[in-house]
Amino acid sequence: MIERSLVLLKPDAVKRGLMGKILTRFEDAGFKIVGAKMTWIDKDFGKRHYADIAERRGEKVLKVLLNFMTQGPVMALCVEGINAVENIRKIVGGTEPKSALPGTIRGDFAHISFAYADKENKAIENLIHASGNVEEAKVEVALWFKESELHSYKTAYETHTF
Ligand code: AMP
Repeated sequence: MIERSLVLLKPDAVKRGLMGKILTRFEDAGFKIVGAKMTWIDKDFGKRHYADIAERRGEKVLKVLLNFMTQGPVMALCVEGINAVENIRKIVGGTEPKSALPGTIRGDFAHISFAYADKENKAIENLIHASGNVEEAKVEVALWFKESELHSYKTAYETHTF
């Protein structure tokens, strides 16, 4: 039941100075951050992370997505908690910010639509990636983090050291 999920604050989140606000959403919900680093990926690494995207969304989406994901650094997080994968997707909201519900990260901090992204020939800039299911989370955490970069520790709530 305790799971770890990979969360990426995409280049738009970093450039817009939203890292803190987004991270706070997860901390406020009681999740534990067990890994965090800033990294600037290249297209080869992007292809490894989005290995199935061409199949699911088409070659054009893969191309614009790689351009987007390599245009600046991302903040990679490993987030731990109860049913973390499903719970984090709920907090993140749907892929298209235009239709993502208010109260979700994408609904509150972005508003781009599929139609606009298509017209501009760019990716949906939706601030954040979160693993889609538990199996995917395991593969993605292992891709982005070395074992030594992941930390097991007790929060103040677990140790009552206030
Ligand atoms: P997915 O794994 O299906 O959520 O897609 C990965 C990412 O690709 C999304 O979070 C968006 O940033 C981007 N994306 C997905 N579909 C489209 C699309 N039709 N047009 C532009 N960007 C897209």
